[in-house]
Amino acid sequence: MITILESKSAPRILAPLSLWFDKNKRSLPWRSENLKVEHADPYIVLVSEFMLQQTQINTVIPYFERWMKRFPTLKKLASVSPEIAMKHWEGLGYYRRCRNLQKSCQQIQQHGWPRNRDEMKLLPGIGSYTSAAIGSIAFQWPTPAIDGNVIRLLSRLHAKNFENQKELMIVEAWLEPALRKHGPSRLTQALMDFGSLICKKNNPFCMQCPLKKHCKAYNSDQISSFPKTKSKPSPKETHQGLLIIFNQDLILIQKPKIGGLLDSVYTFPSVRLSGKERIGISYLHRYTHIKEYTYPLAIHVKNKSIRSPYLWVNRKELSRLPLGNRDKLMLKRIKSLKPIKKLPKNIQILINKDIFKDCYQFPTD
Ligand code: SF4
Repeated sequence: MITILESKSAPRILAPLSLWFDKNKRSLPWRSENLKVEHADPYIVLVSEFMLQQTQINTVIPYFERWMKRFPTLKKLASVSPEIAMKHWEGLGYYRRCRNLQKSCQQIQQHGWPRNRDEMKLLPGIGSYTSAAIGSIAFQWPTPAIDGNVIRLLSRLHAKNFENQKELMIVEAWLEPALRKHGPSRLTQALMDFGSLICKKNNPFCMQCPLKKHCKAYNSDQISSFPKTKSKPSPKETHQGLLIIFNQDLILIQKPKIGGLLDSVYTFPSVRLSGKERIGISYLHRYTHIKEYTYPLAIHVKNKSIRSPYLWVNRKELSRLPLGNRDKLMLKRIKSLKPIKKLPKNIQILINKDIFKDCYQFPTD
């Protein structure tokens, strides 16, 4: 494979890419003006790379800007409660990232910044790609950061599919001399921008591509063959009743669970519904591998005495807690729903056995 990649050819082949980048680079709030030196504040790169995991640049920008106003330094983020940090992450999804970002900041605050990629990978939530991206952009380490955009570009350039870990390591070894030659931060970000703006998944702009002379897929008219697309399994469908339980002005909420889709945010209690039990209107929420139909149910009770991990909060307290997007949206919609008076059996069981210490009671009109 290494002979196929023409060892040491990367600095020459990718030279036009770094020139393209100098003229066409995107203006991003975390991007340094001078890409030839270490980033003035690696914390900025750390935050941006955590936010960009699983999330598109345009979605991240407003969150990043608000975040940096609220937590302008690593020290500030390391010192606040996880709930305050999570409240500012609210809406960005994949909430475990927020917890890991804060824990990473706390470890850096205590022990200093990692000195190499292996040390960087020991921080919570930082894997192979993120360590390489932070290393090259913040510290000018020649560590190739290979994401989906980069692998697509390289796959077309070489007319090869790079699928397994061994092949990715060969690609990294091929790129490394180019990072040293053209500057790690500059070339890493050039590859990212080029993959997303020019060598796009569909309809790449080959006519204006400065690499087309070297592009084996273009020159053999095989662009659509690279990279080979894997068929994704169709998302699993689930149906959830979301219980929005009121006791006069109080609303019942469940403390964050660790793990799962809504890791680290407060949620309303939910119960899985079968075909027979689906009640009322449903709203579709798409997660990466799941299509979830949510049935918001407004339930008014007289009970006060509840079990852990549930608690009663008023509207003001609720507004201060980190709540997932789905639950926020359902809370708005609940006003238009009639309160439920007769509940399916499994919901009764959840309410009686799991939530309340005594048998639930509806208020009398
Ligand atoms: S010629 Fe087309 S496919 Fe090849 S690298 Fe350039 S944009 Fe991508």
